[in-house]
Amino acid sequence: MVKVTLDNITKRFGDFEALKRVSLEIADKEFMALLGPSGSGKSTLLYTIAGIYKPTSGRIYFDDRDVTDVPPKDRNVGLVFQNWALYPHMKVFDNIAFPLELRKVPKDEISKKVKKVAEMLHIENLLDRYPWQLSGGQQQRVAIARALVKEPDVLLLDEPLSNLDALLRLEVRAELKRLQKELGITAVYVTHDQAEALAMADRIAVIRGGEILQVGDPDEVYYKPKYRFVGGFLGSPPMNFVEAEVQDSYLDVYGNKIPIPPQYRELVKKLGIREVILGFRPHDAEVVKGKAEGLFGTVYSFEPLGREQIITVSVNGASVKVFAPEGEHFTFGEQVTVKLREDRIILFDKKTEKALE
Ligand code: ATP
Repeated sequence: MVKVTLDNITKRFGDFEALKRVSLEIADKEFMALLGPSGSGKSTLLYTIAGIYKPTSGRIYFDDRDVTDVPPKDRNVGLVFQNWALYPHMKVFDNIAFPLELRKVPKDEISKKVKKVAEMLHIENLLDRYPWQLSGGQQQRVAIARALVKEPDVLLLDEPLSNLDALLRLEVRAELKRLQKELGITAVYVTHDQAEALAMADRIAVIRGGEILQVGDPDEVYYKPKYRFVGGFLGSPPMNFVEAEVQDSYLDVYGNKIPIPPQYRELVKKLGIREVILGFRPHDAEVVKGKAEGLFGTVYSFEPLGREQIITVSVNGASVKVFAPEGEHFTFGEQVTVKLREDRIILFDKKTEKALE
């Protein structure tokens, strides 16, 4: 297994810069998610690690070995794509065996290795079938088995679960994570699904417009977003944002006075900033009836989710979403206050949309 280092990677397609000076270190045995919206450059970065794309500038290292000019077949990476691309005319056994055949591994050794990896993925009873005789989830496991059978240094996955239905996704994602840890393999996982990234990854790199905005463990990117974009991209529903003006000791949010959270008191003074965006997560607030200290507004809608409900509150035209326990009853238009959990508030510079620091 190896550590992967990306040093200042730029990738241009003609005039278009798909990756802009990306630097990232993926530790040995780490599960790194590349998370970002469509077109942000996630796949381009993955294929650059695989060697399918050559960076326009910058270097890539596997441990201390510079692999920038090494062709894909000599990098010992396992690739799993979104559309699993199994060979339709080959049985499952031969699909999995294929990378070993290419390497001219002896037949009995191939047989052993295929069986072992098939057992790990619980597909040992499918080895005699053709891909068209498999369900989507099974095909996907075969594709993962084929990537793992050659014992790659790095496993690269490009939205491997996106063709599965919701339930199967949850099942396979738990299994994939377990497998990655069991094998102690370095993995890079491309996804636009924030829940998947939070659930699976040791660390998440959030990408937008070919740039990495933030790298951190799931808690860090979720609770301490460095950009408004990151707060708004993670979470379901995502982080709430309201505009605020810094006054002496409080924040004015559409006429509501919110004390400046203790963690920001010194900082806003030092920065002398006036216009900020206040961000808070739907779980880090509560809705109380009537007027209190917080964001005063009216109930716009409520969505029961079983154990809890999401209340949308209209605060002077801005709308914020807050989780509330299942038993509480609200009516449309009812006057309420959204009370914020102070220590979880994040303030962003209104102009740069960067978290104050
Ligand atoms: P998605 O989730 O939609 O797959 P992504 O984040 O993986 O998106 P990439 O596929 O890496 O995004 O693409 C990043 C940008 O680079 C896009 O704007 C895309 O149009 C562009 N791009 C990717 N490959 C090429 C190519 N071979 N030639 C020209 N432009 C490309």
